[in-house]
Amino acid sequence: STPTSFPALDGRFARELPELALPWQAAETPEPRLLVLNEPLAEELGLDAGWLRGDGIGLLTGTRPPVGATPVAQAYAGHQFGGYSPRLGDGRALLLGELVDTSGRMRDLHLKGSGRTPFSRGGDGLAAVGPMLREHLVSEAMHALGIPTTRSLAVVATGRAVQRESVLPGAVLARVASSHLRVGTFQYARATDDLDLLRRLVDHAVARHHPHAAGADNPAIALFDAVVAVQADLVAQWMLVGFVHGVMNTDNMTISGETIDYGPCAFMDAFDPATVFSSIDTGGRYAYGNQPVVAEWNLARLAEALLPLVAAEQDAAVALAVESLGRFREHYSAAWSTGMRAKLGLPAGLDEAVASALVADLLALVQADHVDHTSFFRSLGAAARGDTEPARGMFLDLAGFDAWTERWLAVGPDADAMDRVNPVHVPRNHLVEEALAAATDGDLAPFERLLAVVTAPYDQRPGLERYAEPAPDSFAGYQTFC
Ligand code: AMP
Ligand code: MG
Ligand code: MG
Repeated sequence: STPTSFPALDGRFARELPELALPWQAAETPEPRLLVLNEPLAEELGLDAGWLRGDGIGLLTGTRPPVGATPVAQAYAGHQFGGYSPRLGDGRALLLGELVDTSGRMRDLHLKGSGRTPFSRGGDGLAAVGPMLREHLVSEAMHALGIPTTRSLAVVATGRAVQRESVLPGAVLARVASSHLRVGTFQYARATDDLDLLRRLVDHAVARHHPHAAGADNPAIALFDAVVAVQADLVAQWMLVGFVHGVMNTDNMTISGETIDYGPCAFMDAFDPATVFSSIDTGGRYAYGNQPVVAEWNLARLAEALLPLVAAEQDAAVALAVESLGRFREHYSAAWSTGMRAKLGLPAGLDEAVASALVADLLALVQADHVDHTSFFRSLGAAARGDTEPARGMFLDLAGFDAWTERWLAVGPDADAMDRVNPVHVPRNHLVEEALAAATDGDLAPFERLLAVVTAPYDQRPGLERYAEPAPDSFAGYQTFC
């Protein structure tokens, strides 16, 4: 089909759930300038890239929405670091509407950094160039790694200054997602005590994400089961690639199973479950190793919001919800173990006890010696081909590594299969910071180079060694800010 310059944006969310949608307009942008456009994604959406680069820039900033579109700020609540906030919502974001992409899927077109809304509280409604380019880079890297995520269509510099610790150039991110429904959306609907609204929200979520649940005897519990499954899979994938989300509040957990909100996230260098990057996560609530338990905690909050629709009797509803939530652990463990087996190239028929001992013993060695997660797993591919030196060189406990390697090689790991699941490139923190600092100063070249590298994460190419190496020691103690 021919790409279009004027997308037909639906307003399904606003139409079906008006109580959760506040019509609002994006702030004007004094001097819009396109910093990055995701052409493959534009094509997937059926949008004309040439038009987006020109007249269509007003779509990407929300200042010129298509005729008939009704941008809205979405209402949601959420537990932030365990404390409940009844009214969060889009304080610096807007849903422009939904569009049907070239493969027939419905996608949200959403803006971040588009100005104050009635949900802004003390915030300025704005976003800076650095953090929006960071979201573009990391979300596109996640997508290339095969991990479900919201996407970034474009980042546009607004020409407006944003006051943070210093004065920074402002930007708007155009985000694409299969929806922006969150656990916090359900918490908000539940708190209104309007069961009809809650029921419509369940129907909307089921229709968009988990349509098989529509025919279930109990659609609310079927929806919950589906969210448990997709979130268990998602968090297992984060763990396997060393991703630390950093702000797993219930308003940052989707119903679709896509990763959302790339504020303080970062990839772990040395393997350590206690890894925390976010400056505000002082208690380590969202540390790398806590992520599965936090996801389960968040899902319990979703279950609570759904209880009135699960069963008429409170006790019966709780029993059903507890049973469903109990499946999170099984599902997560299965997804994680399957992924770890693949990372180690273990043959399909290998005895379960042998496989789990290989995995557990390896992780103990890797953690004890503070081994770099990404480069180590990738180096195992070479080790499976007979070249153990690169992997071995990362350890102090050489005897431990040698003993483990002997056991592992004896089961016949498949090196080619390993290279398809162990990335060479993730957006390493020191490279991201370097690229964003240059971009903030007006030089986009390092950002563009890094984006090209991390969106082909499994390709080992000569000349890119620098992008595959761990951070220099001087980078220890790296912190992120949201
Ligand atoms: P987050 O921690 O990014 O998930 O955001 C939590 C809440 O703070 C959401 O309601 C956001 O809309 C809001 N928020 C974050 N930054 C800003 C800002 N600069 N201006 C207004 N609201 C904001
Ligand atoms: Mg958020
Ligand atoms: Mg955020």
